[in-house]
Amino acid sequence: MKSSDLGKMVSHLGPTAKMPALFVGHGNPMNAIQENEFVEGFRRIAETLPKPQAILCISAHWETKGTRVTAMPKPRTIHDFGGFPRALYEVEYPAPGDPELALETQRIISGTPVGLDYEWGLDHGAWSVIRHLYPQADVPVIEMSLDYSQPASWHYDLARELAALRTKGVLIIGSGNMVHNIPMAAWNKMDTPGYAYDWAVEAGEKMKQSILQGDHASLIQWHSRGRAFDLAIPTPEHYLPLLYTLALQEKDDSVTLFNDRYLAGSFSMTSVKIAGAQ
Ligand code: ZN
Repeated sequence: MKSSDLGKMVSHLGPTAKMPALFVGHGNPMNAIQENEFVEGFRRIAETLPKPQAILCISAHWETKGTRVTAMPKPRTIHDFGGFPRALYEVEYPAPGDPELALETQRIISGTPVGLDYEWGLDHGAWSVIRHLYPQADVPVIEMSLDYSQPASWHYDLARELAALRTKGVLIIGSGNMVHNIPMAAWNKMDTPGYAYDWAVEAGEKMKQSILQGDHASLIQWHSRGRAFDLAIPTPEHYLPLLYTLALQEKDDSVTLFNDRYLAGSFSMTSVKIAGAQ
């Protein structure tokens, strides 16, 4: 389909009341098939959301040179992890794609060229959480990649250009983990709720304070916030999706936290909902 044909179609994209936006801590891929407090938290937050026309997910697990959006009508379920039980590899999340939303996203972003992608699909950063939000897989989902060559401020500025999608019925979801250090994980403490190293708590609490105060500049400049931040964010891909979500925040939006819990010493599952006045 040529983009010029799109104008002839009846669009399903808005206008709508301003949609909320989410940052979700996705954590262990096993959350996709387990019952636990985080899964319950995802279900509870979904009940507070208007049903979206489509979802745009920025996942920690899709990094590319340049920015891309998935544009296929039927994205595959990608099992992008190793060493998990067979049941996790058998999960399929058959939500349709949304080529129209992909083109619209490409159109509204002026700061960088956005490529249309027909190879990727839905990685576990997207489907392990979205399947709990919309278990019927009846909301179309596209993903937008993280350009690994760009600094945090660039990602924040790019994300601001996505704000127009909120009034077109699109639920934007950043999926990562604010505190995410795999090499330092205390795997033997997985079953001890809230177990966290001092540096994880220090960074995590400062992040939450900045989020609730709307101090995005400090969150963008995390490199200058000391050792606890360096340990919490050894690589940026799980942190950057948070900036995508926060960049959508407007003056009249409220910010709430959910699934606010540390895990296995070096992770936080803390998630964020941005929403306009009801
Ligand atoms: Zn992850």
